[in-house]
Amino acid sequence: MTVVVHALNMGRALCNFSRKVPDQWPEGHRWVPADRIELVTCQDCLDVIRLHRPSKNHIPRIEALWAFLSVDPKDGNEGVIAAPLQIGMVSLPLIGSDEQRVKSLLPIARQIAKHQGIRVRLVKFTTREEIEVIE
Ligand SMILES: [Zn+2]
Repeated sequence: MTVVVHALNMGRALCNFSRKVPDQWPEGHRWVPADRIELVTCQDCLDVIRLHRPSKNHIPRIEALWAFLSVDPKDGNEGVIAAPLQIGMVSLPLIGSDEQRVKSLLPIARQIAKHQGIRVRLVKFTTREEIEVIE
C-alpha cells in the first residue's frame, strides 16, 4: 500500500482530507509536523505550504509595480485581474514587482483576454508612498 504523508498543523492535515484526528485516519495516511516539509508526500499539503510560506525577498527596495488590468468595454473602467495560477487554487492578483515575474504572468493575461474577450492593459506604477509600517 502507498503511504501518503500529510503535514499536520493544529491537529489537522493541511489539505483537510479528513476532519478526524490522525488516530482515526484511514489506513495509509501518516503525518509529520508542518515544518518537516521534506518528508511530506501529499501534494495538496505541499501546495498549501508553498502558498503560505513567505518566499525570500530578492529586491532591495521595490520601486515599481506592474499590474494587469481588465478594461470594461462599455465605460473603460479598470480592475486588477485575478487568476488562479493552478487549477483549483485561490485566485491571485496579476501583480509583479520585477520584470521577470511580469513576463511569467503575460501568457496568463493573454489567455484571459482571449477567452473572456476583454481588453487587458499592462501598466507600471512607479510612485512609492509608504503608508504604514506594521510589525
Ligand atoms: Zn495532505
